[in-house]
Amino acid sequence: MLNSVIFGAPGSGKGTQSERIVEKYGITHISTGDVLRAEIKKGTELGKTAQGYIDQGQLIPDRLMIDILGNVLDGIKESKGVIFDGFPRTITQAEALEKLLAERGQEVAVMIDLEVPEEVLITRLINRGKQTGRADDNEETIKKRLQVYHTQTYPLIEWYKEKQKHHVVKGYGELDDILADICSIIDTTRK
Ligand code: AMP
Repeated sequence: MLNSVIFGAPGSGKGTQSERIVEKYGITHISTGDVLRAEIKKGTELGKTAQGYIDQGQLIPDRLMIDILGNVLDGIKESKGVIFDGFPRTITQAEALEKLLAERGQEVAVMIDLEVPEEVLITRLINRGKQTGRADDNEETIKKRLQVYHTQTYPLIEWYKEKQKHHVVKGYGELDDILADICSIIDTTRK
């Protein structure tokens, strides 16, 4: 069972690399952003609540987000492991994830931190907004999301460093090179 957290600022390529990791290792991908966008699409109460925060570039409150993740984990029957993409985003969420996994006799094995310069992040997000029409990929909301990342999410790097689970990967350049770096970390951890 290999559980990993793929970490990084908005636009760092977490989703793109997660898809490739899933293909290679056959593990389960949980993207909390995707879960929320699916709720918005379905027009559920949860989706309506989430939309307000997402449009403002703010995080969904921890309590709600942790409940959502617990439900997603309950829905997974058999899995070779999970790649957590976009969760945790706060220390409170990281502590909750530890607890949720411990209750299932599991843990996070590695945290992979995709490091990308801020100007590259902004360019990528603006381009994605143009291509996909994703509403929070506009310049104003991007700025807010990056601020939220720095204040609320970035401290997780230290948290995972203390647990000796933090691994940095250069998150720009050739997609295949990035994947190769990620896989070498995963392969070493699995041994
Ligand atoms: P993402 O697709 O991961 O960039 O997430 C898009 C938006 O969904 C974020 O800007 C947040 O508003 C919300 N979101 C996703 N994951 C979380 C989380 N773990 N905690 C709080 N908010 C989240």
